[in-house]
Amino acid sequence: MSFESLGLAPALLRALSEQGYATPTPIQAEAIPLILAGHDLLGGAQTGTGKTAAFSLPLLNRLSKTTPAKGPRKPRVLVLVPTRELAVQVHENLRGYARHLQVASCMIFGGVGMGPQVDALRRGVDVLVATPGRLIDHMERGSVRLDAIEVLVMDEADRMLDMGFLPAIKRILVKLPRERQTLLFSATFEAQIKALALEFMRDPRQVQVAAQNTIAETIAHRAHPVDVDSKRDLLIDILAKRHTDQVIVFGRTKHGCNRLAEQLDKAGIKAVAIHGNKSQAQRQKALNAFKAAKARVLVATDVAARGLDIPNLPLVINFDLPMVAEDYVHRIGRTGRNGASGEALSLVSHDEGGLLRQIQRVLKKDVEMIEVEGFEPSRPIRLDVAIPNPRSKRGGGGNNAPGARRAPGHRPHGKPAPRHAHAGPKQRGGPSRRSGASRSGGAGA
Ligand code: AMP
Repeated sequence: MSFESLGLAPALLRALSEQGYATPTPIQAEAIPLILAGHDLLGGAQTGTGKTAAFSLPLLNRLSKTTPAKGPRKPRVLVLVPTRELAVQVHENLRGYARHLQVASCMIFGGVGMGPQVDALRRGVDVLVATPGRLIDHMERGSVRLDAIEVLVMDEADRMLDMGFLPAIKRILVKLPRERQTLLFSATFEAQIKALALEFMRDPRQVQVAAQNTIAETIAHRAHPVDVDSKRDLLIDILAKRHTDQVIVFGRTKHGCNRLAEQLDKAGIKAVAIHGNKSQAQRQKALNAFKAAKARVLVATDVAARGLDIPNLPLVINFDLPMVAEDYVHRIGRTGRNGASGEALSLVSHDEGGLLRQIQRVLKKDVEMIEVEGFEPSRPIRLDVAIPNPRSKRGGGGNNAPGARRAPGHRPHGKPAPRHAHAGPKQRGGPSRRSGASRSGGAGA
């Protein structure tokens, strides 16, 4: 299978070969012909599968067939995305593929001034990449008209719903022409997504690549039990011993991530943070610094990291365990790709035992618990402690979305909420053991 055989315009084929794309990925091979034929499409695919090109190429192909009208143009393609980072990434990809086409595109997202976006819309665009909240702001101000939309793409639809964007999406959908093509990409297809598809799509074809929540077999899952107050020192200890690796460290709160990056910097480990409170420019700068290896550690919240085009890394560290096990799967997707070996290391304090239990259930195996000498927890980690309210899974973790709530009883780092450990099944993580992971030995390596 080649891109040529998919029937894409020569200008697109040229851009693809310039970017070194030799063959379509499975989602591209399956989805592109269906989209070119005009079908609505439900695409089950996660980041890293090539899903962006799977929808971008056929819609650019459509735009390439018409000569752009003179004067300001109304958008013909709308791509809805959950976060600014994903907007930037999708937009970058689109521009790359469209480099030999006359296609005007524009990004619309919150956290930056409206003015430049209004100006860009006024100049005229063909493709609009937008987060739902800010797009509604523009619709209310009358700075955007959506009555010429021919193709709607909803990218990472599950995450948009997770973030509470369903009402906004519905408000947008009713403003679009009924005669249109709708493409929906999602890692999971829960009831709400199916309902959305049923209501707003026409006889959609389905394409699914890789089973949901696939976890690479090549990833080793390990955990270090530790008191919450010692997590930072343990992290520094691990990073000092593994001084060659670039690492992504996941934290739960924006504030916690910021502070941790600062503390690592002070300890001589160059770190940058990305989360929802940072301006777009700051986030992009941080990500670029990490990609260019100017920073060794990227400290991120789940939402800020989602969808980011981060290269395969040897090690992912969970400074805090995620509030939902599904996010663990997303986090560790940054390592162990394409058959490479990878390691997911979690620092687990006693209040996080329940979260670890949940993760083990999803992994269908126990996470190896390894005590690090000098960082042994003052009390054993019990897996039968209560799990914090899962509805608050974003718990201040890096977005400004309406659905984001803080967990009741959730505290910033260092101040764990009191919990009652009740009697329950025996710990499943296996007995804690000492191993080579001592202060002098290589931590958990
Ligand atoms: P995505 O899943 O859309 O985020 O894409 C993941 C990465 O794969 C991006 O860096 C793309 O540039 C790259 N990519 C997408 N399609 C191809 C392809 N057919 N050949 C090589 N790289 C690709």
